[in-house]
Amino acid sequence: MLFKQVAGNNSIKEALIQQVQHNRVSHAQLFFGPEGSGCLPMAIAFAQYISCLHKQANDSCGSCSSCIKFEKLVHPDFHMVFPVNTNSSIKKDASCDDFIAEWRSMIADNPYFNLYDWLKSLGIENKQGNIGTDEGTNMIRKLNLTTYESEYKIMLIWMPECLHHTTANKLLKILEEPPEKTVFLLVAESRDQLLVTIQSRTQAMRFKPLSDEEIGQFLIDEQAIENQKAVQIAALSEGNLNKALKLSQEAELLKKDIDDFLDWMRICFKINMPKLLVWVDKMAGVGRENQKNFLAHAVQLTRQTLMLNLNLPELVKLSQTDKELLKKFAQFVNAGNCDDLLTAFDKAYYALERNANAKMLFLNLSFRVSTLLNRKMELKSVA
Ligand SMILES: [Zn+2]
Repeated sequence: MLFKQVAGNNSIKEALIQQVQHNRVSHAQLFFGPEGSGCLPMAIAFAQYISCLHKQANDSCGSCSSCIKFEKLVHPDFHMVFPVNTNSSIKKDASCDDFIAEWRSMIADNPYFNLYDWLKSLGIENKQGNIGTDEGTNMIRKLNLTTYESEYKIMLIWMPECLHHTTANKLLKILEEPPEKTVFLLVAESRDQLLVTIQSRTQAMRFKPLSDEEIGQFLIDEQAIENQKAVQIAALSEGNLNKALKLSQEAELLKKDIDDFLDWMRICFKINMPKLLVWVDKMAGVGRENQKNFLAHAVQLTRQTLMLNLNLPELVKLSQTDKELLKKFAQFVNAGNCDDLLTAFDKAYYALERNANAKMLFLNLSFRVSTLLNRKMELKSVA
């Protein structure tokens, strides 16, 4: 991770770069701040900068052999410790090494995640995350390894709040007599939950919630989100980039669903057979879970459309852009056909659960939807 890929916090970036430039990297540092403020990506960018073989004035080079390993989080001198617990695949003595692949992919997806997100990705969100006693032994073993490629060995400990007290004491001992050329980066949300002795042995960097501007800029630069949407999401995310990223994903998914749904409705309404057959083929190929999701969203969107139609805006849970999209469809949904449309979607959903043939099912469903949508038009013309 490069510094330029980390959201905001420019004064902290500058201070970290200065440490390296002036050869004053302190051996134990604590990065702490609220969820989504970016302590973890900053610590990774810092570790990469320390190890980069062709450091630039403001960032790692991004292309040396060290940087390339850091991109994949596989550098042999960079160790990461994080809370874990047993799950359906690791049934006892869970250690960080057991979950390193999941950890790497989590960071690649969104390095602003919180502890709940992490445990949820392991299927154990109802358990506690621990950095247990065995992990302390593993830490010492890893530190005793000779440095492979870098001047420094770096050990990042994420959520040290979860350290077992025996492990915390082991860590404290190491921090009191630090091995040479070793850097500890502790990345926490709450400083107060750490042993006072650990607090006093580490140099602290406090991260504040990100500003709306910092979040907006990150969404535009790193997520390619259009300006206006980025500003809207930033305003809703309370300085928490994790929340902002989740909001933007939901918005994207919803947008795609609405587009897909409206395409289908248009095809049904006009009874465009060639297009309908292509659509049915496509739907038949997306897999059972996606088909069920599509129908579940069709139910939601139809309900929302009726709310729009009945002028009950307080019940409509859509953004302004999505409302505009659905408004065009709203004229074909009314109290007279809405129930029948919902029933048709529901029936199809349950038929899918009972392994109905997807092609036949979506073809029949489309004909039924077509009849229902056009029924509205007839009523209108009579009126
Ligand atoms: Zn480099």
